[in-house]
Amino acid sequence: MIVNVTGPNGGQPYSKQVANKISGGATIMATRLGIGHLPVTYTIKIGRALDKSPTDYKDARGICSLTKKNNKYFAEIFIMREDKISAMIHTLAHEMVHIKQFIKDGLCLSKSTFRDSVWHPAEGQCPYRNSPWEEEAYTKEPFLANHYLRYCTMYMVK
Ligand SMILES: [Zn+2]
Repeated sequence: MIVNVTGPNGGQPYSKQVANKISGGATIMATRLGIGHLPVTYTIKIGRALDKSPTDYKDARGICSLTKKNNKYFAEIFIMREDKISAMIHTLAHEMVHIKQFIKDGLCLSKSTFRDSVWHPAEGQCPYRNSPWEEEAYTKEPFLANHYLRYCTMYMVK
């Protein structure tokens, strides 16, 4: 896997230290999610405002998309810049779960397909928050984030 961390428009990230921590997080989390061995190039952008591109999948604090070309994957993740790096690590964890879902669970947002079935919200359900892919992302996000934050403490990743 290849990980590039940039600013919002592809330039230098605002902090090399933050970029290194995000980059390490993507590597550790991908391994944890069982996609660390796959040929995925990650482009992770950090910026203050969320991009409005309609082809991307947007959460409150992050965006992600995945394309496949010649048996190689290209993941794009946008992380909203926040004062606390741990908050950004949580956003990264959430978006990494979606990348795993695109690769391993057949998540297709335009068709609402996930793990071989089509999902429709039942009455009273939120089409965003109650979807099985968001349920999984919100459930796994804290565990994945803390897994990496513990790793950082253990190996003194600053
Ligand atoms: Zn999400």
